[in-house]
Amino acid sequence: GGYPAFANHPGVDFTIPAARAGMANALATVRKDFGATYPLLIGGKEVKTAETLDSYNPAKPSEIIGRVCQAGVKETQDALAVAKKAYLAWRDVEPLERAKVLFKAADIMRRDINELSALQVLEVGKQWDQAHADVAEAIDFLEYYGREMIRLGAPRRMGNAPGEVNQYFYQGKGVTAVIGPWNFPLAISAGMAAAAIVCGNAVVYKPSGLSSVVGYGIARIFKEAGLPDGVFNYLPGKGSVMGDVLVEHPDVSVIAFTGSMEVGLRIQEKAARVQPGQVQCKKVIAEMGGKNAIIIDDDADLDEAVTGVLYSAFGFQGQKCSACSRVIVLDPIYDRFVSRLAEAAKSIKIGPSEDPSNAMGPVVDTAAQANIIKYVDIACSEGKVLVKRTDFPADGGCYVPLTIVEGIDKSHRIAQEEVFGPVLAVMRAKTIDEALDIAGSTRFALTGAIYSRSPKHLEKARKEFRVGNLYLNKGSTGAMVERHAFGGFNMSGVGSKSGGPDYLLQFMDPRLVSENT
Ligand code: NAD
Repeated sequence: GGYPAFANHPGVDFTIPAARAGMANALATVRKDFGATYPLLIGGKEVKTAETLDSYNPAKPSEIIGRVCQAGVKETQDALAVAKKAYLAWRDVEPLERAKVLFKAADIMRRDINELSALQVLEVGKQWDQAHADVAEAIDFLEYYGREMIRLGAPRRMGNAPGEVNQYFYQGKGVTAVIGPWNFPLAISAGMAAAAIVCGNAVVYKPSGLSSVVGYGIARIFKEAGLPDGVFNYLPGKGSVMGDVLVEHPDVSVIAFTGSMEVGLRIQEKAARVQPGQVQCKKVIAEMGGKNAIIIDDDADLDEAVTGVLYSAFGFQGQKCSACSRVIVLDPIYDRFVSRLAEAAKSIKIGPSEDPSNAMGPVVDTAAQANIIKYVDIACSEGKVLVKRTDFPADGGCYVPLTIVEGIDKSHRIAQEEVFGPVLAVMRAKTIDEALDIAGSTRFALTGAIYSRSPKHLEKARKEFRVGNLYLNKGSTGAMVERHAFGGFNMSGVGSKSGGPDYLLQFMDPRLVSENT
């Protein structure tokens, strides 16, 4: 009612000088706040803690983005108590009014898009265009979920039996713990939080320790958008210290999590156990990892396939749940594709993401760097090295070698375990059936893609390439809100697709009132 139909925020073109200058200025602006201390925000009040965690620039770890206060057990309990109280008022606010807060927050993000993007470039090492795309996705979530709530907020009349009027409607489930990853530091967290909020829940938000300064921005934006205090609480803290407290607390009704399989499974297990005083079954929405494959058919357009695989595998250093980490190549085209892929991978420019001419930057921190290097060694011992780029800046930045290995089969660890870095396994298949079998041979089912000119093979993939998001003749990353509603199944997660038409339903309980008239 009254709002234009949803449309995705447009992409940015950094070949335009004004766009480039806007980003350069924003980088300088954001730098001015470096080293500031960020408090928790509970019920609208700043809470400082003795313990802080430094968030640093992965391209230059000596550069501190911010010192972030860390919630312990007490602060977690306090935030949950505040959220419980705020929920009781917020759940009865009209859906349209709740949606308007999201639209206002989207306006603020559009206004601040350069600064919000610049902060990601510096805090997690995103390339300019990718950082911009993350903020655009956050805007899209706000605009889309706002409209979705308006749609779902209209009470529905059920049946037409004479003598009764039946109304079907929804209410927010309660206190929602939102636990976010660092890799889409604004979009994923803002999306989960916005969904919870617009459905009438109150949120306690735990950002990743690697992107807590970006996470603070979400709190600032919701406050400026007029969200009542206590409906969104910012609670950075260590998973090992307060993660279980948050998940196990009897007052938590929903846990919206995006992150690794290991943590997602732990949360589901903990949330299943009913605690003393708990009066509801907890709902867990967990979006987890992937081991995504792209199939290269023997008649594929190689110009498109090489570009698509490179971008999917190495964009943002391969640190996307949707990243391609296996490329399955049909025998007849194998040599041609692989030599072109390797050639192109050797020309990728590596260096700090702050310089927009670099296509690949550092990984997110020293721990990720060590873990990925361990997997580079595993890949190189299991297969034959095609590319191993060690020509990155040797200046203490968190760089890892871009690595491509061949000779990998289903049984190898590098074909089964999520690396979350720029490591690509090349696998050979004799037929399209074998390629599809290899593609489906992991416990994950998140994204996948196939490059083929054969309508028959594309149709086969549509049916048998069983992943949450399948792309035909395009890469496996870059899902857009609504158009490519996103999420997987099997060990890639439980819950419905974010940015899709079923997502909000997970945050609400349906009610029916039947009146005898
Ligand atoms: P992670 O699992 O290490 O951390 C995610 C969040 O969980 C962080 O906020 C972390 O602090 C928190 N956490 C850690 N231990 C906890 C505990 N015991 N209790 C509660 N919370 C705890 O993941 P990450 O490194 O931030 O993100 C990368 C992972 O996320 C990859 O596996 C990637 O595939 C996945 N991911 C999935 C999607 C998707 O939509 N399916 C999107 C982005 C990222």
